[in-house]
Amino acid sequence: MIHRFAVGDLPCAVISDGQPEPPWEPALETFFTPGTGVPPEELRAAVAAEGRGRTTVRCGYNCLCVETPAGLTVIDTGLGRDFGGYGPEVAPLVGRFGERLAEAGFSAADAVAVVFTHLHEDHVRGAMWPGEPAFPRATLYAHAAEVAFWSGAPPSVPPDQREPALEAIRVFGERLRPVEYGVEIMPQVRAVEAAGHTPGHMAVLLESRGQRLLCTGDSFHDPLQLGHPTWRTPGTPTPSGRYAAAAHCWSGRRRRTSSYWPTTCRSPAWAGSPGTATPSPGGRSLPDPCLIPARPGP
Ligand SMILES: [Zn+2]
Repeated sequence: MIHRFAVGDLPCAVISDGQPEPPWEPALETFFTPGTGVPPEELRAAVAAEGRGRTTVRCGYNCLCVETPAGLTVIDTGLGRDFGGYGPEVAPLVGRFGERLAEAGFSAADAVAVVFTHLHEDHVRGAMWPGEPAFPRATLYAHAAEVAFWSGAPPSVPPDQREPALEAIRVFGERLRPVEYGVEIMPQVRAVEAAGHTPGHMAVLLESRGQRLLCTGDSFHDPLQLGHPTWRTPGTPTPSGRYAAAAHCWSGRRRRTSSYWPTTCRSPAWAGSPGTATPSPGGRSLPDPCLIPARPGP
């Protein structure tokens, strides 16, 4: 999938790195568990209210390309080619970002900036395969707390999370530039606090000519979380207070953000416009990242 749209004067393209298909999509009850703060009865009620009869979480891996006045900026890079970590059945379905970037008319050498919402492998591996930076001219950005956390991650952190993050930090070397929340990384592209999924997780706000889009990264994986922002997802290391920060980011910006785009949304169907909608258990179903003139700030 290549989905083009614009935020003001910023041409954008969401390029899918791929996604598991049934039966490899995770079941809702194995994804949202009491351990992630989701009581079974609450999950059943939310699914029933949604009224779609679905049983799985439809996760995708999406990368957002933004043509800024200073050059092409890529936000998250997917799993990269030849990724077999999710098993042989899933491997052919993912790792497509590189070829689709070319289909979209871009070259990896065009990118002057690569921004990571966080350093999980499904966001960074596409920028370091095969063991060297895949974007030869780009400066790479992640939040300072994210780089610090993974650099000193204790052995208790699962190896499948720790090792790719450390490899990314090693491969990127001095080209990886830690940033703070609030920094304008590129013109009209700003880091926004959204710690929780990981300690230094950030959202990325695009803003141009009165239009805004918040790329929420892994703050949300499923439309059900829009109505239940305290629901965590597997791999979110808790404590819940950290996740609450992401929820705060969501609610606090609702009135000022024209639309949002979760990294993992499978299709544009549930990207939406919190500026105009109260998140419901089913989320919004819109054909595009619905862009509207931004409202005055609070
Ligand atoms: Zn993640």
